[in-house]
Amino acid sequence: MRTVTLIPGDGIGPEISQSVVKIFEAAKVPIKFEIVEAGAKVMDQENTPLPQGVLDSIQKNKVALKGPITTPIGSGFRSVNVALRQYFDLYANVRPVKSIKGVPSRYEEVDLIIVRENTEDLYAGIEHKIGEVAAESIKVITKKASDRIAKYAFTLANQQQREKVTAVHKANIMKLSDGLFLDCVRDIREQYPDIEYDEQIVDAMCMNLVLHPESSDVLVMGNLYGDILSDLCAGFVGGLGLIPGANIGEEIAIFEAVHGSAPSIAGCNQANPTALIQSAIMMLRHLNLLNEANRIEAALYAVYEQGHDLTKDLGGTATTTQFTDALIAKLLNNR
Ligand code: NAD
Repeated sequence: MRTVTLIPGDGIGPEISQSVVKIFEAAKVPIKFEIVEAGAKVMDQENTPLPQGVLDSIQKNKVALKGPITTPIGSGFRSVNVALRQYFDLYANVRPVKSIKGVPSRYEEVDLIIVRENTEDLYAGIEHKIGEVAAESIKVITKKASDRIAKYAFTLANQQQREKVTAVHKANIMKLSDGLFLDCVRDIREQYPDIEYDEQIVDAMCMNLVLHPESSDVLVMGNLYGDILSDLCAGFVGGLGLIPGANIGEEIAIFEAVHGSAPSIAGCNQANPTALIQSAIMMLRHLNLLNEANRIEAALYAVYEQGHDLTKDLGGTATTTQFTDALIAKLLNNR
């Protein structure tokens, strides 16, 4: 039995985490969750949204599944999500965007992976005000981080037998910072002659994605573009309720949905748990529990193919609980 840290998180986090726990129990996954709390809800008692016990648990277990955590806008504590990525040096954020048969969406054959650099760029959080009249945010791009995210993207493309890697940038304007990123990707690609390679300026990339999302494969980019393009691409296949993510470092990995804590539907039993379920499936594959991952994924796809139990974000009326139970019923039927 392997122990994994579970951070239920804020807003809809506890409801969708509960869904994963129930599914893992039904599938008899050999994982024991060590539950620790972080986020806005522990701020008052602990005086920090990220208590040391959470960091210790992740350090010990090496793998975590995490619900979304609220970040106050403008003032208040710094993003726990960004802090975790920086603390454990989780340099690669991997977000597969794949059409699921039966999910109402604008496009059908989308199957792309966003590989987002996760530790620097404007997310380094280096900001200051200049009196009352201006504020500066510093965009940090390093050779070390650019080389390793490029290497990660090409290795992933190789492992998953993908055809093409596209570097997304704005080096025509940010000639030094995005220029360095692009130079690094170009150098690394020399080691992967079998994988097709191209480059797109981020604004043109957005238009091409909206016109033909099915022609994109692996997209590698800096932190901010990755954040924005993830939500854009989520929209192609049914929205944020579906897209999983992994934050990968040399030693530690944290799996989480792309979406946030969705405060307006928190506690309403309305959230779509699919994104966290798909993140948990990625986690099982990372832990080499392939049989369990495949079984849960097949049950998830079967629920959508049948089309009876769609949650509200996809135009249905099923609650989080009903969706979870429908998946468990498929799982038990397929045994
Ligand atoms: P959000 O992703 O929480 O919500 C955007 C929209 O999508 C809302 O309409 C919401 O109801 C809907 N939505 C999201 N997930 C859904 C699901 N599983 N099922 C059904 N509908 C879903 O984005 P936001 O409103 O910009 O952010 C809310 C909070 O979450 C903020 O504090 C933000 O900082 C935080 N956040 C956290 C993470 C993370 O923990 N990794 C990521 C993004 C945002």
